Amino acid sequence: RAVTSPDALAVIDAGDGSGAIDEGTSDAGRLTYADLDALVDDLARRLSTLGIEPDSRVAALLDTGLPFVAVVHALDRLGAVLVPLNVRLTQRELVEQCEHVGVETLLHPGDRAEQAADLSAELDREVAIFEVDGEGEADTVWSTAPADALPAIGRSQSDRRLVLFTSGTTGEPKAVPLTTGNLVASAVGSAFRLGVVPDDRWLCCLPMYHMGGLAPVLRSTLYGTCVVLQSTFDAERTPALAREHEVTALSLVPTMLARILDGDADLPDSLRFVLLGGGPADPALIERADSAGVPVCPTYGMTETASQIATARPAEAIAHEGTVGRPLLGTEVSIVDEQGTTVEAGDVGEVVVSGPTVTPGYLDDAVTERSVGPRGLHTGDLGYRDDGNRLWITGRRADRIVTGGENVDPVEVRETLCSHPAVADAAVVGLDDEEWGERVGALVVVSDGETPELERPDSEALRAYCRDRLAGYKLPRTIEFADTLPRTPSGTIDRTAVRVRLGNPE
Ligand code: ATP
Ligand code: MG
Repeated sequence: RAVTSPDALAVIDAGDGSGAIDEGTSDAGRLTYADLDALVDDLARRLSTLGIEPDSRVAALLDTGLPFVAVVHALDRLGAVLVPLNVRLTQRELVEQCEHVGVETLLHPGDRAEQAADLSAELDREVAIFEVDGEGEADTVWSTAPADALPAIGRSQSDRRLVLFTSGTTGEPKAVPLTTGNLVASAVGSAFRLGVVPDDRWLCCLPMYHMGGLAPVLRSTLYGTCVVLQSTFDAERTPALAREHEVTALSLVPTMLARILDGDADLPDSLRFVLLGGGPADPALIERADSAGVPVCPTYGMTETASQIATARPAEAIAHEGTVGRPLLGTEVSIVDEQGTTVEAGDVGEVVVSGPTVTPGYLDDAVTERSVGPRGLHTGDLGYRDDGNRLWITGRRADRIVTGGENVDPVEVRETLCSHPAVADAAVVGLDDEEWGERVGALVVVSDGETPELERPDSEALRAYCRDRLAGYKLPRTIEFADTLPRTPSGTIDRTAVRVRLGNPE
């Protein structure tokens, strides 16, 4: 891109997006592809002097922003493997991840120097730590003399360039290597579904240590288009930035879109789509967005497939309520039963995925062993498709509750509880039960303010409400109340914590 479109804008780094709008007066944070190339070249040569070479495993403890982008490209240039760490994890969790991958070097911003030092002190092997956003101070990458020239390295599509961790919704996060080929195939498949125009500007406010945040950045470089980076989402500042920079694409998770629609800040007319993923989106949310003139592309994806598996175009999402669309070009999806046999259209089964975006295998061979079958990678997600090959995701296999031999769909029980006027939210899980194997448990958040103390339902009242609407074996036997539901660092419900909260042993 630096050769073919040197003058095109590559990155606008808006920080947290709270700065005053001073269009035209400052070039800070705006880089063309030629600028980005120069920055990446400099960084790569310094990292080379520091001993980073092909296959070095380099962890990064960085927020969404320009230093992260520079690190991604510089490590690629050196043939090294980038291991983005989730900055919201605990020290213990970070230690585990670094040891699992065998991290040799840790890059961090100046304001995380202490955290990085503590982390490296706890690791078994010696890990070099460097600051990447300082300017000429000790221990920063920038205080190192650059190498004279970068070593020439061989390149292949099967090179592993990233190790990302899954969100840990169903257990310990899993380490997922991704190759150059995976990332390129994902960019190509996504472009065929969403289209690319030369003036595209993709606003990325999701964390870049998750695939959903990293993908737009990698893709834009291939497309020669621009990414606008915001370090953290904000229901007002994100739409303001989108308007200021006439953004055409925006990646969000459902709660973020809901908060934007709840607020007063409008998204710009330049917006071609909101790519909405990371978890299930309520069809009512997509309809609300449509009424507000916001085009939404619901998408289903995962770390293991370098993001999107299937994506619906805005009109398709409205015409076929709840769908996540058809698989991307090159990606094949099968829906299988417990025996691994493909089921008919309309029948729910496990989603199995294959194609050029799928990881060559988890870092842990035992995980690969139990996740890969003859038709591809078993996602652990349940879903069905229609005759037109459109996909719906209904839940996770691990969440299905089996009580006295009967299957209970926790989504159905949750929806029933949430239909009660005094219930704001609920998490429904299976609890260990001596008699039934599992029993249904629910952690309930009661609506704030609107419900006077006297009308607040107790667990018996909620059970009575459910009894009129659900079969006996589906009734939540254990109901507890909480102010908020426990969540994983990526915002999904932490089901293990819910179980513990409901009295289940860990
Ligand atoms: P872990 O694999 O460690 O349990 P995780 O699966 O949550 O964590 P990610 O790779 O970040 O980690 O998330 C991918 C998962 O998110 C998918 O497998 C699916 O369960 C869920 N998901 C993503 N998009 C959607 C969607 N549109 N509808 C429903 N679920 C979705
Ligand atoms: Mg997963």
